Amino acid sequence: MTAAVRLAGVSKSFGKVPAVADVSLEVAPGELVALVGPSGCGKSTLLLLLAGLLEPDAGTIEVGGRLVAGPRTWVPPEERRVGVVFQDAALFPHLRVADNVAFGVPRGRERAARVAELLELVDLPDLGRRYPHELSGGQQQRVALARALAPSPSVVLFDEAFGNLDSGLRTSIREATVAALHETGAAGVFVTHDQVEALAVGDRVAVMRRGRFEHVAEPATAFHEPASRFSATLLGEADFVPGTGDGAAVDTELGRLAATPASTGAVEVMLRPHEVTFTPGGSAVVDRREFRGASYVYTLRLPSGALVRSIQPHTVDVPVGALVTAAVEAGHPVRAFPPR
Ligand code: ADP
Ligand code: MG
Repeated sequence: MTAAVRLAGVSKSFGKVPAVADVSLEVAPGELVALVGPSGCGKSTLLLLLAGLLEPDAGTIEVGGRLVAGPRTWVPPEERRVGVVFQDAALFPHLRVADNVAFGVPRGRERAARVAELLELVDLPDLGRRYPHELSGGQQQRVALARALAPSPSVVLFDEAFGNLDSGLRTSIREATVAALHETGAAGVFVTHDQVEALAVGDRVAVMRRGRFEHVAEPATAFHEPASRFSATLLGEADFVPGTGDGAAVDTELGRLAATPASTGAVEVMLRPHEVTFTPGGSAVVDRREFRGASYVYTLRLPSGALVRSIQPHTVDVPVGALVTAAVEAGHPVRAFPPR
């Protein structure tokens, strides 16, 4: 099957800063890849390269099977079949909603019908005659999505598109967006610095660091078996606890744990707070606790001095200073890393 997007060895530097360094990625038709990484790691640059708003220094970019950037090849943005939704909807303020959407639709008899269909798709069927300033932030983003989808793109790029919306609205518009994308069959590349959003939205997650992909995998794999400590910490809270592997399992202060990869000698295992439990009495100490409403996050100091967090329902009320015994209930082998 022809990929919606194919990047091979793509690099882009600004002066001495390698903003994107040797990135390769294939996105299948209809697939949604979430691109996550800290500020400045090159996420926006990668999208601008895909959209044709920046020219790569090296590598090739294909959209829908067509070479759009590479040695001696350059297809301008408006001919790329790439839609873009930025953080700020960037609608034309002097145009009504319907005209904003129509902007991306080829002229012809079908134009009005196509606009109506797109507004229906993003669930704003009655707002075509409004101006952008008469819409809420969430509605503006949905109009921007309709405009991006208008020319039937192979892929839609989202750059922190919902970052300005409050969290409840953000979830609902995100779900609506994924549904609209799936309905049209367009692929998506979805940039976010929010790991929860990345895990929720992506068919795959690409973790980016200093211009490179650190790990590209399905969300559950990226979360439970991160390729690196960086990836582990970026995708959720993680603690690293020392242990000794004997090839079959790893012995730690929280017991003997199945681990991946099979390890021998000194290792550190990654534990996430929801995988750690504890019982009263023992030689670990409750160092502190943080109230999060529905839960407490307890930080436990193990006899070796290592710290590990445990998330518990708010009904588990244990004071700081209490002695406890920590255990692991991961439900899967834990990820082992070489010691630092
Ligand atoms: P992100 O979107 O992940 O926050 P960017 O892609 O915007 O990161 O930036 C990646 C790196 O490239 C950063 O170091 C940034 O300062 C630099 N950069 C981005 N755009 C430009 C530009 N037009 N000129 C110079 N440096 C840039
Ligand atoms: Mg950015």
